[in-house]
Amino acid sequence: MAVPTLDTAVVDELVAICGEENVLTGRSALFNRARVPAPFPLHRWEQFTPQAVVLPTSTEQVSAVVKLANRARVPVVPRAGATGLSDGAVPIRHGILVDVKRMDKILEIDVDDRTVTVQPGINMMKLSQRLQPLGFIYPDDPASYPCSLVGGRIGTSGFSLISGRFGHTRDLVISFEIVLPTGDVIRVGDGGGRKIRKSSSGYQLKHLFMGHQGTLGIVTEATLELVTRPEAEFSAFFSYPSYLDAWRATGEFARSGLATLAGVVLFDEQKVAYLRRDDEAWIPAPDWVKSITAVAMYGQKDEVRAGAKQIMRIAKANGSTYAGDEVSQGDWWSRHDRYATPLHGRTRSGQAVLMSWHCEDAAINHSQLPAVREKWHWIVDDLRRRFDTFDDWGMFSYTNGAFRPGGDYLTEIDVGIWEQRYDEEMWAAWVDAKREIARVAIEHGGSMSSCHGSCREGEVDLLPLELGGGFDVMKKVKRVLDPNNVMNPGKYLLDQAYEEEA
Ligand SMILES: Cc1cc2nc3c(=O)[nH]c(=O)nc-3n(C[C@H](O)[C@H](O)[C@H](O)COP(=O)(O)OP(=O)(O)OC[C@H]3O[C@@H](n4cnc5c(N)ncnc54)[C@H](O)[C@@H]3O)c2cc1C
Repeated sequence: MAVPTLDTAVVDELVAICGEENVLTGRSALFNRARVPAPFPLHRWEQFTPQAVVLPTSTEQVSAVVKLANRARVPVVPRAGATGLSDGAVPIRHGILVDVKRMDKILEIDVDDRTVTVQPGINMMKLSQRLQPLGFIYPDDPASYPCSLVGGRIGTSGFSLISGRFGHTRDLVISFEIVLPTGDVIRVGDGGGRKIRKSSSGYQLKHLFMGHQGTLGIVTEATLELVTRPEAEFSAFFSYPSYLDAWRATGEFARSGLATLAGVVLFDEQKVAYLRRDDEAWIPAPDWVKSITAVAMYGQKDEVRAGAKQIMRIAKANGSTYAGDEVSQGDWWSRHDRYATPLHGRTRSGQAVLMSWHCEDAAINHSQLPAVREKWHWIVDDLRRRFDTFDDWGMFSYTNGAFRPGGDYLTEIDVGIWEQRYDEEMWAAWVDAKREIARVAIEHGGSMSSCHGSCREGEVDLLPLELGGGFDVMKKVKRVLDPNNVMNPGKYLLDQAYEEEA
């Protein structure tokens, strides 16, 4: 199937708005902007390519592109670092792809009021490199830290690995400017005031435009928290003879009430087995080690020292065995190197093949973790029995609450997939399994996505089940803000809003 070409008059107008060097229509530019790291039906690649790519440099250009899209009734899809795992930046109805990577400037650092204002194309690593010599950081810290961008973090309402101490994207972004689906430009925060953290004025619109997967507009500028650089960091890994021992200890660490606690992670038995088998970097653990927990803390030296002592006391009381400094520090420090994970893997028989990685990322309460774990592994085992192209790479759970970790956990099951063998039968089985994994999360009182978004094939079918009447409100909001359905159409079942109207 060939990609439908865009009207030349539309392309000419894009060139007039953004400049010739910022409009791409060549095959490789289009095909590269269709790809994402999540499993992708490669055998149907052409169905997901844009018709033109623009790289704007200003809010005015983005606004003019969106207004043109409305006149020409062509879809517009925002794309930042393209590391999203929910297909949000995949142009499933073709159209104009707005790549924000050239909007990467730091516009203002305000040391007095503790804010930094940026364009959406900057990544957190570069931002923090600029801030650190000044004694600050921007602590939105996903595993994709070096490659995801501020615009995409807002588009997904991202999860930060050190959120227990510093909060998630939604907590760290104070306000932002957004080009609405009609091309109008507004600024949203809790209320008004670009640098105001708490306001009771009107609706809390920041949250409506946080995590919408590019369906409600394109963020063109954001004002973020400037956080004092912590003096000290503490990380410790502990080993356990069973998952349930590690699960109980994880709960105790997370409920400790320590203000420096940034996160607690729990690796289950299948994850430890996978690491032993597949990860050359994993320092071999003795055979009795079946499950692992990890704790991380940040703050001033005195508070971290005292907190670390308390963590060691809790560990001792819960039968934990310290895994040693090499694992504790080495593994925590390499948390940002995980972006290579989707790029390779091995089959269970040890055969080295190109295996893609996929993870479901539900939010599950602590009390429900053992039951959910059992059901999820069963679903993936069933897939493995039917197709040798899937592998179970284990589960992990990560404290999900910002500032007060302890209740619910981002819970992922990682699945290896031998993508070169994809065909329609395998893809359909995969989509069914994803839907069932999501259903288990909802049935246990959870949410099917804690950080990536739930707009992929499979789980998206259950959005009305998870949100109930909230999904009807979503459709109404979409129809009002995007009357022509140009802004990232086809996502989150939102086409239904227009079908119902018709
Ligand atoms: C190895 C790996 C590890 C990961 N670890 C984490 C993790 O720890 N925590 C986590 O939260 N995620 C993680 N992710 C997922 C991904 O990095 C996040 O979802 C991230 O927030 C996406 O940012 P991005 O810049 O790549 O956005 P993209 O993938 O380009 O876009 C994501 C969504 O945002 C929309 N969007 C992009 N730019 C804008 C804009 N300017 N305005 C409005 N909407 C926009 C897009 O349309 C799309 O729907 C990981 C991914 C990988 C591959």
